[in-house]
Amino acid sequence: MSAAVLPKRVVVKLGTGVLTHGVGQLHTGRIDALAAGIAGLRASGVEVIVVSSGAVGLGMGRLKKKKKPSDVSKKQACAAIGQSLLMQTWQRAFDPHATTVSQVLLTHEDLRSRHRHLGVKACLEELIAYGVVPVINENDTVSAAEIKFGDNDTLSAMVAALVGAQHLVILSTAPGLIDMKGTGKILPVVEKITPEIEAMAGGTTDVTATGGMISKISAAKVALRAGCGVFIASGAESDILARLFAGDNPGTYFVPAGAPLESRKRWIAFYQRPSGAIAVNANAVPAILAQGRSLLAIGITGVRGRFAAGDVVNILGPDDAVLARGEAAFDDAEVRAMAGRTTDELRPLFPGRKRLEVVHRDHLVVL
Ligand code: GLU
Repeated sequence: MSAAVLPKRVVVKLGTGVLTHGVGQLHTGRIDALAAGIAGLRASGVEVIVVSSGAVGLGMGRLKKKKKPSDVSKKQACAAIGQSLLMQTWQRAFDPHATTVSQVLLTHEDLRSRHRHLGVKACLEELIAYGVVPVINENDTVSAAEIKFGDNDTLSAMVAALVGAQHLVILSTAPGLIDMKGTGKILPVVEKITPEIEAMAGGTTDVTATGGMISKISAAKVALRAGCGVFIASGAESDILARLFAGDNPGTYFVPAGAPLESRKRWIAFYQRPSGAIAVNANAVPAILAQGRSLLAIGITGVRGRFAAGDVVNILGPDDAVLARGEAAFDDAEVRAMAGRTTDELRPLFPGRKRLEVVHRDHLVVL
């Protein structure tokens, strides 16, 4: 491996289909090969964070279930059973490399709340400083539908953005993105995720898997905006990690473009699920999208849902498409009262308040 091309930090996401075969049977040889690949990267000085699926699948295997249960509580129980098996498996696989692993279980709320978000980042930095491999999974046992990441592709992209990784490697049973429009082969490089690229992704059909290519593409979008390149490749190839970082890419590489968003804007853009929204008129659209301006009351046509001052809201164009996301400086009732008014008209309504931007441009991210 040439040190010049090696990244400082990578996140490697492993899908259930790579780690298991049948329903919930461990693919020990493959896991050992992946641990060896990760150990090889670490020996070359690359910091590696693993996002590992497999808890629900392994739990299903232990309980001899053939189908993923539809009840949330049954899925949670499978995850509780499988997660400890998963960690035992990872520690055993890393033992020959004298490497300690650590379990990090996250819910969406842990990354959504700014305070907890920074706490998780600090803990991951400590683990890396200790020379330990963090093995992250969603805390499925406590995640209810509304607080779920939903799939580990999304989780891995959020983790990659959180820790400032240069690369996210998504290893699954999918060898890459197949060029359905052209060659019928794997697309080696994607410079931009266009609607055609999105159309090439189909959902998953596996009984234990969750995401499929659609969730990989949406995860790639998050990582790319954070300046992190994304590989999608097959985890079934034993030397895949060594190959990828030696510059031989058998899968698809998504190239990050543009300046990466800074940390607070990443938090606004990717870690929130805003329930409130502010609709704007056609004049406000170029001001926000092209000119990087703050959102002013004059351009607002309506408000959806409830939010407090400081909450992240979606900003909708005249056609209701989500244009941007930002932290509202006022609550929903205040924004309703402000909509369509000039700053001069607003001054008497908010005496003593200097800033009357509804969403300041420093807290606004175009999506
Ligand atoms: N957290 C789930 C599990 O460990 C996997 C979700 C996913 O694969 O996307 O089973």
